[in-house]
Amino acid sequence: MVDYLANTEINSQRIAAVESCFGASGQPLALPGRVLLGEGVLTKECRKKAKPRIFFLFNDILVYGSIVLNKRKYRSQHIIPLEEVTLEPLPETLQAKNRWMIKTAKKSFVVSAASTTERQEWISHIEECVRRQLLATGRQPSTEHAAPWIPDKATDICMRCTQTRFSALTRRHHCRKCGFVVCAECSRERFLLPRLSPKPLRVCSLCYRELAAQKRKEEEEEEEQSVGSPRQPAYLAGAICGASSGDDDDSDEDKEGSGDGDWPSRVEFYASGVSWSSFHS
Ligand SMILES: [Zn+2]
Ligand SMILES: [Zn+2]
Repeated sequence: MVDYLANTEINSQRIAAVESCFGASGQPLALPGRVLLGEGVLTKECRKKAKPRIFFLFNDILVYGSIVLNKRKYRSQHIIPLEEVTLEPLPETLQAKNRWMIKTAKKSFVVSAASTTERQEWISHIEECVRRQLLATGRQPSTEHAAPWIPDKATDICMRCTQTRFSALTRRHHCRKCGFVVCAECSRERFLLPRLSPKPLRVCSLCYRELAAQKRKEEEEEEEQSVGSPRQPAYLAGAICGASSGDDDDSDEDKEGSGDGDWPSRVEFYASGVSWSSFHS
């Protein structure tokens, strides 16, 4: 399907349409060999609540954004290279169905589809694209993933000390390492997590102890091994910084409005009707 659609007029038109829907807020998406394979609305679990987001599956990237106007205007574009993606199916609960997790080293989050069939379509299409991308680039599937943030509503008390009760005055914070919801007291430390940010990030007390111990161990090993070679890998330099870097700048899109309500649960895979395995022919 990719080969069949690549370099076709219809594919170029579809990609141009996506670009224009994001307007100036988006990146150029057209690239030689890039094919738009499908699109649809998924519900993304954000920090405060679950929100509809538009998703576009290309053969090499997954693009999503918030919906400003039904179908024709999107913003807060995110682009995820598929070779970095791992999917994890999540079990059904009474409140939450058809969910799975999209995991990358930088960010992991939970989405859900409108039906079991749609969920299956999304997962199999994405996984097929990931497989092909890995094959094409010769990369190994990534094994390190950012922890997804536990939604605010999931807990009224700090998940570390289990003492502090959150309120309008007592803010929730998120540990960037484990994703737990913690109080200010339990997340005073900052640690450099190079995969996530060039700046030290808020971590909970438990993660801080583990990270610091791990860093000490790595430094000791380094000292034993190397005499004369560079002292420290760049990514460890200045790993610890006690000072607060200020407030959490929380998940980008959480502040974004969205066209709540009137969105379609329409999913379209341009490969529909063609068995996915015809990909290989
Ligand atoms: Zn606490
Ligand atoms: Zn933590």
